[in-house]
Amino acid sequence: MIEPPPWFAKGLPHVWLPYAQMKTTPPPLAAVATQGSRIKLADGRELVDGIASWWTACHGYNHPHIAQAVRRQLEAMPHVMFGGLVHEQALTLARRLAQLAPGGLNRVFFTDSGSVAVEVAMKMAVQLHLNRGERGRVKFLSFRGGYHGDTFACMSVCDPDEGMHAAFAGVVPAQVVVDLPRDEESEKAFETALAAHEGELAAILAEPLVQGAGGMIFHDAEVLRRLRRAADSIGVPLILDEIFTGFGRTGTMFACEAAGVVPDILTLSKALTGGTLPLAATIATGEVFDAFWSDDPAHALMHGPTFMGNALACAAANASLDLFEREPRLDQVAHVSALLARGLEPCRDLKGVVDVRAMGAIGVVELEKISDLAGLKRRFVERGVFVRPFGRIVYLTPAFTISDDELATLTQAIVAALAEKG
Ligand code: PMP
Repeated sequence: MIEPPPWFAKGLPHVWLPYAQMKTTPPPLAAVATQGSRIKLADGRELVDGIASWWTACHGYNHPHIAQAVRRQLEAMPHVMFGGLVHEQALTLARRLAQLAPGGLNRVFFTDSGSVAVEVAMKMAVQLHLNRGERGRVKFLSFRGGYHGDTFACMSVCDPDEGMHAAFAGVVPAQVVVDLPRDEESEKAFETALAAHEGELAAILAEPLVQGAGGMIFHDAEVLRRLRRAADSIGVPLILDEIFTGFGRTGTMFACEAAGVVPDILTLSKALTGGTLPLAATIATGEVFDAFWSDDPAHALMHGPTFMGNALACAAANASLDLFEREPRLDQVAHVSALLARGLEPCRDLKGVVDVRAMGAIGVVELEKISDLAGLKRRFVERGVFVRPFGRIVYLTPAFTISDDELATLTQAIVAALAEKG
């Protein structure tokens, strides 16, 4: 085994890692380079990447078109504050996103992370009612299995038990969190919750088609149409969080398109820059925006992150949109989808496997439980792949450009590692 580089041993005692019990977590892997669907480690090993860095690197790593756009922007102007100044990359991106997003979603507010994009969406929803003179609409109806980020408002709308934030139950505001209305029983509970909280709800908030970090749980398009009708019936906006599902992950550019549902507010991040730089967007319809359009300064949306509309990130996002226009990404997603379904199918016969499913470029093996998560992660690395199971889930969300061979390496590693467990 090659010794880790000096920066690893010297720096590790000073860094605090995500979602980790620092005392017991196994040491992380030292990455030194990426290319396509590969991650090169400091010790010379190369892993096929099954996660695309939390679902961001949809074109694979180091795409030359994105790299060139960022390099060009870096020379001209890496960043200027968005207060009082605008620039070509941000305005071009806003226009392109408005064109790309379904229906009347045409006003883009840029932020720098998914959580903040959701915070902004929630703030928009609350203030929309205040600006219209309706007080008391301050709560959100969200769903079990949902995940919307780790900041305080976001934590409140995540699944209260599964969402990693149970310890904060007494700190975050209590929201109305119910099951998605997917059958008779949950439909009844949904209707009851709607009726009980109708007057105090600011918005309904959901991840469309796939609840990602909450467990890669799929639901039908009909569920989204039900949410649209519910939001309309009580006169509140429907917020769809497409931070995971947006940009082709579920098979269409946006998951809501598959259901023919247009939200009032849409949140995007992750694959927005093709995974190269942090950027997020909260996109509102003209109708939502109109509630803020006023001679009264108090009706303005009071939000403005320092790195809002960062020029490098916007350049990366514009280049990523070029790639969606020029290259057959959605066809590639359909191809990856078929290979994921076929490649993971043998898992169905393994002991402890509850379900195997695929939608778009998402492949999921759901287990009764994973008793040795660290051991399973290690076995994946030993097989030359980077896969990051969580909860009871082993999943793949590869780059859409991954080769058939690389994808086979990933699915075979999962089948073998789960079979080995016995
Ligand atoms: N919403 C969804 C649906 C997500 O998947 C995530 C990130 N996993 C977030 C919000 C939060 O994004 P970020 O980690 O960039 O704050």
